[in-house]
Amino acid sequence: MPAPSRPVAPLSAGIVVGATVIVRRPQRPFRGVVTRVNDRSVSIRGEDGRRWRVPRSFPMAPAAPGAPLPGPQPRPRIRRPTPPLPGRKEAFRRGAPGGGSRRGQPVVLARRGGRESIRYRNFDALAKISAHPLRKLHAIIDQAAAKCEKTWHWKASGLIFDFAWSTRVMGRSYRCGTGRQTGIRRIALSDLLIGRYDGWSVGRVVMHELCHHYRKETFPHGTSHDRIFCRELGRVDPLVAANRRQCARFRQGEQGKLKGRRAASREES
Ligand SMILES: [Zn+2]
Repeated sequence: MPAPSRPVAPLSAGIVVGATVIVRRPQRPFRGVVTRVNDRSVSIRGEDGRRWRVPRSFPMAPAAPGAPLPGPQPRPRIRRPTPPLPGRKEAFRRGAPGGGSRRGQPVVLARRGGRESIRYRNFDALAKISAHPLRKLHAIIDQAAAKCEKTWHWKASGLIFDFAWSTRVMGRSYRCGTGRQTGIRRIALSDLLIGRYDGWSVGRVVMHELCHHYRKETFPHGTSHDRIFCRELGRVDPLVAANRRQCARFRQGEQGKLKGRRAASREES
């Protein structure tokens, strides 16, 4: 069956090959000569020699060769959404959590046992939206790290935690596999995680990110969320052990999600 033919937009009288027309582009109208007309568009050679092809429905009118051009038309006002905070989405992508707002001294808190410590950067920027004070986060992170170290027989020394804005990511690990050489293992946690999820969820994300470091250092081959990764993460996270789909993504839905400020303040106590 042949396709139905497209309706052809009507053209105002006088727009024919060889005629001079004014094309009313909103900002810079121009004058030119029609060189071609077909069912879809009109080809025009502008007075400056540029060639244009505009849809037949575009506002244009025949004009005398020397006719004055209309002035620029006012641009329609478009209401744009409020721009995101500077550095927001960018922060994770650039690998620079905090989006350049890593000013200020890092906070260094000792781990249990006293020999190791964890550096925290940029918490100040997120402190207002965090459902947990830094001390509480530190306790959760320390505990998660200790569990991973014990289970995997691996040392998570030189931990750095950055806090970053991200609307999509809970956490991220950086330069995995280099920890033994550099003595640094860096992880970022997002505003989404610390602002909206409970301590248990924070611990799960921390173990996930630690697993990226451990896995890359211990099993150099493979991809980030492969079988080895899921197996090892399953050894510390019972949810992953029970359901492999939990391993690549944070899939607990509402389970660990705080409800409103009241839930958040309960977390703080
Ligand atoms: Zn991951």
